[in-house]
Amino acid sequence: MRNFLFLCLCIPVCIFSELPIKQPLDFHKSEEEIQEAVVLGGGIGGLTSALYLSRANLHPLVITGQQPGGALTQSPLVQNWPGELSIRGNDLTEKIQEQAEKSGAKFEIADVVSVDFSTRPFKITVRDLLTPKQLRVIKAKTCIIATGATPKMLGIPGEDTYWLKGVHNCAVCDGNFYKELDVVVVGGGDGAITEASYLAKFAKKVTLVVRSNSLKSIEAHRKEELLLMPNVEVLYNTTIQEVLGDAEKMTSLVLKNSTTHQLKTLPANGLFLAIGSIPTTDLFKGQVQLDNKGYILLYHDRETSVPGVFAVGDACDPEYRQAVIAAGDGAKAALQAEKARSSPSSTPTSNIRPLEVQEPEIISIKSLEQFDKDVLCSKTPIIVDFYADWCGPCKALEPHIRNWSKRFDGKVKFAKVNIDILSKLSQRYSVRAVPTILYFDKGGVLIDSRTGMQEIAGLIDKLEGFSTSQ
Ligand SMILES: Cc1cc2nc3c(=O)[nH]c(=O)nc-3n(C[C@H](O)[C@H](O)[C@H](O)COP(=O)(O)OP(=O)(O)OC[C@H]3O[C@@H](n4cnc5c(N)ncnc54)[C@H](O)[C@@H]3O)c2cc1C
Repeated sequence: MRNFLFLCLCIPVCIFSELPIKQPLDFHKSEEEIQEAVVLGGGIGGLTSALYLSRANLHPLVITGQQPGGALTQSPLVQNWPGELSIRGNDLTEKIQEQAEKSGAKFEIADVVSVDFSTRPFKITVRDLLTPKQLRVIKAKTCIIATGATPKMLGIPGEDTYWLKGVHNCAVCDGNFYKELDVVVVGGGDGAITEASYLAKFAKKVTLVVRSNSLKSIEAHRKEELLLMPNVEVLYNTTIQEVLGDAEKMTSLVLKNSTTHQLKTLPANGLFLAIGSIPTTDLFKGQVQLDNKGYILLYHDRETSVPGVFAVGDACDPEYRQAVIAAGDGAKAALQAEKARSSPSSTPTSNIRPLEVQEPEIISIKSLEQFDKDVLCSKTPIIVDFYADWCGPCKALEPHIRNWSKRFDGKVKFAKVNIDILSKLSQRYSVRAVPTILYFDKGGVLIDSRTGMQEIAGLIDKLEGFSTSQ
């Protein structure tokens, strides 16, 4: 343990002192841009808005946030999209994005951090995900808000400690790591049924923990299918009190029966939260009117309390939260926004300057032998990105990996591993969620491991901090 700590503390110097980083790291300079239409959010609502706006020749800019493609990318099989018998959520959103891009929409993977809708043109402040100190203001004649909703947490002891070490909120993202293991899903609605059905196809056992005495499902046949699965058990009138585990991972859950008040410990390898969501609208507080749960209020079709600002999808829909509804909202909002184009207070547009990205060399690891040769025997430090095709955040990370590769100019190499093709490698390094980045010193010594966008961004902060102090 002490060796490990020592490594962690000294490694930035050992590694990065070798990097003669001459170029400034702020590849994403602060500036003001004016756009005809800006879509805030890259889920199915935002994508459809972009498609319609681009077909109206408005060349919309879409700020996608951390999940390009949105919540639907988590769905392994969408079966209620008109015209498709069944399609992976990821494939569906990629198709719509491609369609919108071909008509002239531009996409940027960044977060909106604040908006000012008090005067026209509207001001939107954005931040690149991995260079959080760099802010940029974009001006827009019209805006469509499509920021969706974020999943709720239980707020119980152990939930944070074992986050991504057993506790997850997306079965399709992280469920693969629980093949032949025991998992628990908590929740009593459609989301919980979807998550439990997905996991039951490969987990040893799925226990569905339901707070009330029934499952509430809009799609009754999905519920029936789930209850017929032999490895699924439903515990009604039950709540989870605590997540327990060892130094590495979660090992069990403390459950309470709300009728008998009895506590019991249930051994489990994974817990998947499916307890609903909160609209992602905090940043619009004081800008557009929200209801008491935070959903955006609409006044004239898709128009919010601010003329010229529209809202679509889960951010303003506490009721249905379905892909086709978000898409329909998107089409409608775009048609309304198109009318706002002739507003006399509008100012001329200028095109956003795209990020300059050169094609980097990223080694695609296809076998264990190749990993041993290219990573463990590497003569330079190497960052290995463990990803999956179905993982939205992994997609969001891709352009950043390409930028880092360019930025470090061959002093640090970059490689990627598809965890579905090389699952043995994920097991070898205990990679339990994606995206995960492993940082190896030359000679293949593992010195750092980061999971999730925030942690990975922390590693880049470390890189930047070091380089700017040189
Ligand atoms: C596991 C799962 C399975 C599902 N299966 C189905 C199904 O089979 N059929 C169906 O009809 N529906 C399904 N749904 C529901 C469906 O995915 C949603 O109703 C739909 O995605 C809502 O679309 P949206 O555009 O409103 O929001 P989202 O798809 O949630 O997109 C929100 C977007 O906003 C972005 N964003 C958030 N904050 C910011 C910010 N600060 N700055 C910039 N961008 C931001 C996010 O990155 C994301 O791109 C499923 C949902 C889940 C979670």
